[in-house]
Amino acid sequence: MSIINILSPHVADMIAAGEVVERPSSVIKELIENSFDAGAGNITVEIRDGGMSYIRVTDDGCGMSPEDAGIAFIRHATSKLHDENGLEAISTMGFRGEALAAISSVSTMEIMTRERGSDSGIRLTLNAGEIEEMIPFGCPEGTTVTVRDLFFNTPARLKFMKSDRAEASACIAAAMKCALGRPGISVRFIRDGKEEFFSPGDGKLESCVYSLLGRDEASGMLSCSSSSDDLRLSGYISSPNEGRGNRSRQYFFINGRCIKSQLLQSALEQAYRDTLLTGRYPSCVLYLEMPFNLVDVNVHPAKTEVRFSYEKQIFDFVLASCKMALESEDRLAPRSTEAPVHGTAFTDSDPAPGPALKTADIFPAFMQNETFEQTTLVSYGQNIQSVEKVTECAPSQIHVDNFVENSVQNVENSNVPNHNILGQAFKTYIIVEHNGEILLIDKHAAHERMVFDRLCETISEIPSQALLSQTTLRLSAGDAEVLENNGELLLELGFEIEPFGENTFIVRAVPADLSIHEVSSAIEEIIEKLKSGKIVDPQEKKREIFHTVACKAAIKAGWDTDMLELQKIADAVISGRIKYCPHGRPVSVTVTRQDLDKMFKRIV
Ligand code: ADP
Ligand code: MG
Repeated sequence: MSIINILSPHVADMIAAGEVVERPSSVIKELIENSFDAGAGNITVEIRDGGMSYIRVTDDGCGMSPEDAGIAFIRHATSKLHDENGLEAISTMGFRGEALAAISSVSTMEIMTRERGSDSGIRLTLNAGEIEEMIPFGCPEGTTVTVRDLFFNTPARLKFMKSDRAEASACIAAAMKCALGRPGISVRFIRDGKEEFFSPGDGKLESCVYSLLGRDEASGMLSCSSSSDDLRLSGYISSPNEGRGNRSRQYFFINGRCIKSQLLQSALEQAYRDTLLTGRYPSCVLYLEMPFNLVDVNVHPAKTEVRFSYEKQIFDFVLASCKMALESEDRLAPRSTEAPVHGTAFTDSDPAPGPALKTADIFPAFMQNETFEQTTLVSYGQNIQSVEKVTECAPSQIHVDNFVENSVQNVENSNVPNHNILGQAFKTYIIVEHNGEILLIDKHAAHERMVFDRLCETISEIPSQALLSQTTLRLSAGDAEVLENNGELLLELGFEIEPFGENTFIVRAVPADLSIHEVSSAIEEIIEKLKSGKIVDPQEKKREIFHTVACKAAIKAGWDTDMLELQKIADAVISGRIKYCPHGRPVSVTVTRQDLDKMFKRIV
């Protein structure tokens, strides 16, 4: 008897909605981005009850024809992408054709729209993704989308909403991020009838930052502005004596899209090294512009993360630009938050002011790369292949990548006494000659300790990696409860796990060290540990979770490991930094020359 069911498009939309629409703030983001793509100059966002009962986004963009409006909410309906070639250089905020489908499937939606130059408009009402009515309608040019009763038909999701107040704050934050990304577009936000913010949309970064961040935050920020052949960085960073206790005021935009980026965050923070107290973080509003084909925005359902083609060069460029800004101390002068002033801020059409960095110094590979112009990012098809490829890789290979990236820094620069790696026994023990002794190192135990120590030393958030192919977990009610109760802690430690319906969870990201093969087993182990109820102290919980991550992340006995990795492990052991694995087992044993001589009866 067949047990496989092909889900109806409606159910598929509802599942997809879980990825795109997590909460009211995600609706706001998607609708504002649609207005940006429609070429709007003015956008008004209104919410009631934290966006749960009512969200309305009105724009004066290009509008939609009745035919387009009639299909815009169908999944994968998009005017922004025509074939796979378009994916190589995405210049619009949207391209997946998912947002309207996802939002309309879990709400009651009304779209009023009039195409630019057309005599009349149309009004479309939808209930749970089904058209209820479509009538000609008198309305101004542009589009108004109203979303009512979000998640009314997905009670499981509804349960996870926070208070209206918290949801409203998230909506405001989401809209603010969007508005900060477009100084040339005016955004007004109204909550329960009261204006929360307004950005003038005069194209001046300075007035945009002032109106959105507020006078206290904005004044005194340092102007950051540099360009190279293909990169341009502009914006503002905080002065070193204005460090904050968290990173909530770090805004990074790539080609107008607000993204989370570990890379840019590290580059920024490195610029402040030795000037900012430990545990304090800089703020920034930084705009990086680069050719669209050098950044892949198709790596996250909500498009909040990107992948760069030239990570090292971008890191160096941002670091150098921020350092320069810190040195130049070109401050944003105090001013009123309302009236935009004329200043040096860049407009969309101006070239960025300020000294140009010598690109050749920081961009050698990038510039000398003749294929740069033609550099393309993986097309959608290739992208999927690459996910599959990763899944097919031998565990050792996958691991080596993580390992090299994450562990190497740890051992660099240390003063390691001379030693000589003779090889490996049983793909388990590294044999090292050192100081007249033979050292046998358990490579798994040693590497596990290295990862564990690094995790414990990480003061702020643990770097995480977004999963390209998301893992879904179905848990027992008890396990689901354990996961939910520890959601915040896990998030801090690099696990982004979101509830999705009855005891089901979507894993969006995991700590960067973890191999994608180990995701489910790691989470299961963590739940087991937390379930026992013996560990209550948060620090203790953290250590237990780190134990699991380190163990799952470490290279295993029996794997092929290349010389570079063996070397790094040997260095860490010989320099004396690691002696025991996190479970207390020794990571190495020593056989002296004398021991050997005795064994062979050379001496007695
Ligand atoms: P995407 O933005 O990825 O194309 P959406 O589901 O968000 O997918 O929107 C589907 C289509 O509906 C868009 O491609 C666009 O053609 C149209 N659309 C949505 N919102 C607007 C708007 N505010 N103004 C004009 N057209 C819109
Ligand atoms: Mg969209």
